[in-house]
Amino acid sequence: MLLKQVFIGRKHLLSTYNCGLVMFPIRRLTSATGPFNFVGGKRVEPVDRLCDTIVINPAKGEELCHVPSSGKLEVARAVSAAKEAFKTWSQFSNTERGKMLTAVGSKIRSNLEDIAHLEVLNNGKPIWEARVDIASCADAFEYFGGTIASLTGQHVPLQGDNFAMVCREPLGVVVGIGAWNFPLQTCSWKVAPALACGNTMVYKPSQLTPLTAILLAEILTEVGVPKGVLNIVQGAGETGSHMCHHPDVAKISFTGSVATGVNIMTAAAAGMKKVTLELGGKSPLIIFNDADVDNAVKAAMVANFLSQGQVCSNGTRVFVQNAIAEEVLERLVNATNNLKIGDPFEEDTTVGATISEEQAEKVLSYIKEAEKKGAIVLCGGRRISLPAPLDNGIFVSPCILSNCHDDMRVVKEEVFGAVMTFLTFSTEEEVVQRANKTPYGLAGGVFTRDLSRAFRVIRQLEAGTVWINNYNLYPPELPFGGYKWSGIGRENGTAVFEHYTQTKTVFVETGDVDAGPLYPQ
Ligand code: NAD
Repeated sequence: MLLKQVFIGRKHLLSTYNCGLVMFPIRRLTSATGPFNFVGGKRVEPVDRLCDTIVINPAKGEELCHVPSSGKLEVARAVSAAKEAFKTWSQFSNTERGKMLTAVGSKIRSNLEDIAHLEVLNNGKPIWEARVDIASCADAFEYFGGTIASLTGQHVPLQGDNFAMVCREPLGVVVGIGAWNFPLQTCSWKVAPALACGNTMVYKPSQLTPLTAILLAEILTEVGVPKGVLNIVQGAGETGSHMCHHPDVAKISFTGSVATGVNIMTAAAAGMKKVTLELGGKSPLIIFNDADVDNAVKAAMVANFLSQGQVCSNGTRVFVQNAIAEEVLERLVNATNNLKIGDPFEEDTTVGATISEEQAEKVLSYIKEAEKKGAIVLCGGRRISLPAPLDNGIFVSPCILSNCHDDMRVVKEEVFGAVMTFLTFSTEEEVVQRANKTPYGLAGGVFTRDLSRAFRVIRQLEAGTVWINNYNLYPPELPFGGYKWSGIGRENGTAVFEHYTQTKTVFVETGDVDAGPLYPQ
């Protein structure tokens, strides 16, 4: 039955899957064949649909499937399922919920290869990167499954025999909305802590990468998470907007651009909903003269060219102190010229496909404008044609721009593509001032062997995460989120429990009420 569905429904999918790739188990293969919403514990067609989104494989520029966008009624159905499930899920003990979420982590790990392949097919990132992403999803479920039992309230002794309890309670129905660059990781970083705390969720992946979230919902059901605890609805901004305006939603947890973050905050304000916003960045990576140049160059590659540069925390403003600037630049250009742009399923590919034609155009236009303003393209920055079957794929070569100045748009704005801007500096004071000259504040990196300097600099950097002598590492134990325009709230670490719970203070009177002059004794 399933085999027939695949052959008849999506012939083109089969050719993609069979193209020299590891064969998918048929059960998982059907995940790309719909239905694509998951409400009340099963895959469903939306009860009302807006227009379909055509989902593509960016490495081949070919269609994978059509996904119907959900309208207001479908959003309402999903919120209602989550609201119903909240009644029981919130009553489970933390330990019970933790055990199930840990089991989700193990199940993700045992299906890692299949899930990573589906992610690559839809997102275009190299397979080795997708494996790391999916392992980090498992980490998130195992981490929150393990730590949630330690989330307890407080007992507060008061005057006399009186005391108070500060209870920690879930919020209710949480809406999650994600970006396309780390599709399942974005989803897991929201689902795992929100559910651990006893909330239920309606999640919408990006319309560009809708496929893996539905696998996660199925895995939750397989390990026994009750129906309605996690619901997936598909769609673009209009669907997201319906989710954010729904009166039964207590909180919105969003990952995406600043512009959309502003819209979401406005919607949240109208309904007095809580928000977590994980937004964009334009982070500095600072290399001092005394740095270990090998490490600094390696980290700058990671900080710029992972996932075709489509990483929110990327250190795209590379500041190098004058004395070593020439050496660092030469090594960066050599390393970048040695990257292999190609089929994301080949193990030695280092640069895969850009997510969409629109994104590729945007990246190239930033480079073109910078060149006009005097920047020099030292490598890359071009649309690349690869032989069939990738001849319609969306490939852009990683670019290093020198001769940049801080007022260029390519230095000030988030490009969200593989474009490194190389900048030089003289003094510590100067570089700190320039590094902070941005409305963003997501991340930053400092490379030096002088620990005093490292701490002096990181204390002054206006950013939510700062790495000393490394870059772009996010273990689940550590809070992640932005200063300034880069967001509100944190994901990961136990800090996130603050964002998915609320406290209820219970004052316990053990003696007589003292009403003062209002009711004299
Ligand atoms: P986007 O803002 O265009 O879309 C993000 C999500 O919001 C999508 O699911 C989209 O459908 C939805 N959406 C759009 N309009 C909406 C509305 N009015 N109401 C509700 N939902 C709406 O962002 P993108 O292009 O998908 O992702 C790229 C951006 O995400 C970059 O700026 C990047 O820095 C940021 N990002 C941040 C982090 C982080 O953790 N800080 C991580 C990944 C990506």
